[in-house]
Order: sequence, then C-alpha cells, then structure tokens
Amino acid sequence: MRKILIAGNWKMHKTPEEALSFAASLKSAFPQKPLPIDLVVCPPFPALTSVAEALSGSAIAVGAQNLHWETEGAFTGEVSPAMLKAAGCQYVIVGHSERRAYFSETNAVIRQKLKSALQHGLFPIVCVGERLEEREKNRTLEVIEAHLSVFQGIEKERAKQVIVAYEPVWAIGTGRNATPEQAEEVHAVIRKHFQEMFDRDLAEDLRILYGGSVRPDNIDALLARPDIDGALVGGASLQLGSFQKIVQGGLSRMKVRVS
Ligand code: PEP
Repeated sequence: MRKILIAGNWKMHKTPEEALSFAASLKSAFPQKPLPIDLVVCPPFPALTSVAEALSGSAIAVGAQNLHWETEGAFTGEVSPAMLKAAGCQYVIVGHSERRAYFSETNAVIRQKLKSALQHGLFPIVCVGERLEEREKNRTLEVIEAHLSVFQGIEKERAKQVIVAYEPVWAIGTGRNATPEQAEEVHAVIRKHFQEMFDRDLAEDLRILYGGSVRPDNIDALLARPDIDGALVGGASLQLGSFQKIVQGGLSRMKVRVS
C-alpha cells in the first residue's frame, strides 16, 4: 500500500530563524513517531542544517528545493547532493516549474539532477505539469510525457526511490487548483507510463503527489482519488495552521487506505 506523503515547499521564504521556529512548532504539533504518513519540509538552503537538526528525532524529514548534479567543483552558487546529505536532507525537489520557467531548466538538466539525486541516495520529488495554454490546446498529456522522458535510462532499482509531483503550472500559487478529476486523470496516465517504462509493481508502488493551490479545504477531495498519494504544498505550507490541517487530511486519508 502506498504511504501518503505531504511535503511543504517553502520556496524563497523564511529566514533561518523563522524556519527554525516553524520547525519547532511543527515538531510539537506532530510528536508521534513513526507517523503513518511521510511528512517533509523543504526550507531554503541557508536553513537546511538548522531545520534538520531541530527535526532530528522526529518523524518529519527535510528536503531541499534544488541541487546541482556534480558532487563538488567550480560551480559558483550551486549546492551539491553530497552537501544536501551532509545538511540532513533526505529528499530533494527536482524540476519544479519555477526552475524550468525562471532558470531555464530543461528536461536534459532535470535528468542529470535526477540521476545524481538517486546516486546519492536522496528521494527526488520530480515535478511535471503543463502550462495553461498547453492545457487549453489539449496538449496536457503530450507535455507530461515529455517531462516523464527524464526517467528514461534510469535503472529500475533506483527508480523505486522516485516520487512524482503533478503540478499544473496554472494552478501553482494562483488559488485555482486542478479539480480532483483533472488531477486523477493525469495521475493515472503517469502511473501507466511508469508501468510501460519499468513494470507494474513499480508503477503500483509509485507515489504521485498533486501540487497547485492545495489548501485545507481541498485536500480531502484530492486525496480521496485513488491515484493521488499526497501533496506538494507551497503557499499553504508557510503557515502552521493551514499546513497542520493539510497534514491532518493526509493522516485521515491514510487511515482509510489502511482499513
Ligand atoms: C509549489 O510551489 O509546488 C506549489 C504547489 O505552490 P502552491 O501550493 O502555492 O500553489
């Protein structure tokens, strides 16, 4: 059975001090260990080490928002997977649409990052998703397929570590989420693709998160869909109250999955 995963992407928000205080509050809100779901926060780079230290001994894991594919070298401004591991990260977001749009990340670059994350034992949360004009031109599935091409050539054993996040670009930070039906349709296609690329068991075990204006009032309907295994949450992960409610939604859904 797939374990629900809720991840908060803090983007370029929170100083190290603010991040630390948030992490401490989150730890108090979810003291249970282990938790029946996977819970992850992705702070900006300067806060990674202190947040990971604050959350150590808890069931809350830490992820980074980006990585470089090399282990070290003359790459000014970049952070390597080895550095992320040393900072206490277990997860890393790869190919977020903001990286594609503002930092010109192509599928080729994303594939290198994905491979490197896997080699270093990080769980990559690989983002795929269409822009509004692509959806309006009925090109959604074609774009998703192109984004999924980053998995070609990845060894099956390594691909078991992968998490995919379907994040329609038109839903990110807009307050307009995909309907559960729209998301489920794409999630089912992603799972089918994984079956074709790898095998049925791997596809069945693959966790596919939805991201794009997830809030406390839409999480239950999204997670009620069979192929939606969690959420990648931006804006609503920045406030403890809203993030806590989303995590509660994940915990409630997990109870239904287990029963
Ligand atoms: C995101 O940044 O991955 C995201 C989904 O943002 P938001 O929840 O704010 O739409």
